[in-house]
Amino acid sequence: MSEPLDSVTPARWWHRLDDGRIQCDLCPRDCRLHEGQRGLCFVRARQGDAMVLTTYGRSSGFCIDPIEKKPLNHFYPGSRVFSFGTAGCNLACKFCQNWDISKSREMDRLMDQASPRRIAEVAAETGCRSVAFTYNDPVIFAEYAMDAADACHERGLQTVAVTAGYLHEAPRREFYAKMDAANVDLKGFTDAFYFQHTGAHLQPVLDGLVHVRHDTACWLELTTLLIPGANDSSAELEAMTRWVHDELGPDVPLHFTAFHPDYRMTDVPATPPATLQRARRIALDQGLRHVYTGNVHDLAGGTTACPGCHAPLIERDWHEVRAYRLDAQGACPHCGTALAGRFGAGPEVDPIGRRRIPVRIQPR
Ligand code: SF4
Repeated sequence: MSEPLDSVTPARWWHRLDDGRIQCDLCPRDCRLHEGQRGLCFVRARQGDAMVLTTYGRSSGFCIDPIEKKPLNHFYPGSRVFSFGTAGCNLACKFCQNWDISKSREMDRLMDQASPRRIAEVAAETGCRSVAFTYNDPVIFAEYAMDAADACHERGLQTVAVTAGYLHEAPRREFYAKMDAANVDLKGFTDAFYFQHTGAHLQPVLDGLVHVRHDTACWLELTTLLIPGANDSSAELEAMTRWVHDELGPDVPLHFTAFHPDYRMTDVPATPPATLQRARRIALDQGLRHVYTGNVHDLAGGTTACPGCHAPLIERDWHEVRAYRLDAQGACPHCGTALAGRFGAGPEVDPIGRRRIPVRIQPR
């Protein structure tokens, strides 16, 4: 079935090679394409003598989520985020927990169509504070995400990227300049793990994290999915959390989340809660101030404590905010220590709790 013409748009970040191929310069895959070929991400392709993005304006669906589901625990806690993704991915994670979207080769799945302007309109109409580019990796549809981000900012909405952070420096600079917050996966801390389990490399991800933390205004949180026997050794976790502390600083929140058997790793058991708690302990011992456990019920691992007096300031159960005690300046009401992050004038504890609410967008 042919794709609607308006979903195919000229792509940025590519150049011609002397041998007649063209090379995509968006991510370190550096795909080199002959006429008619697609990149590894599947959604960027060569048409004629140029690169195109084939999913502009098309989505695998729209939902309203609590912001904690991204996960972001220090970015307007309890607020609603309007979430969407497209199809494809530039990594090849064997443990993908969203593989029906990210590995999709059927563009007919992308039933929902929406212009950047419509996304911002509907997000505002449905009471969302922000729009998240998520479900699959937004760097591969950067042109669409960045246009949507501009439309969101015109309406006073915030923008959120949920990404593996695997992209080259030039697009990285432009992409994060339009994002108000990002949750970036740090999937492991050895190049062997990255290459064997994702087909990518570690260093470009680390370079990107340093850029976001130190050269942009984008609020940064990290997520590591702990896979039993693959990336959960104490030595690897110590090295990773030491790097986060030394290179990014102690205030960057880190989320350890539980793997469940999926896609090409159905022979590996789910992450035991004890592994998440061990990882959290290691990170706290390295000096990180905000370390969370995800996809489990864990009161301690879901609580934001004051870095000054250690009073519990935000309590969560799974993705649901149960108590919010920050003052209007985003500081501890007991000792006045400011909490790192972005906070509104008051609590935004939303009645949707941890639920995901699907939304259909009617084109205009
Ligand atoms: S964005 Fe897609 S086409 Fe471009 S280099 Fe990466 S995987 Fe290849």
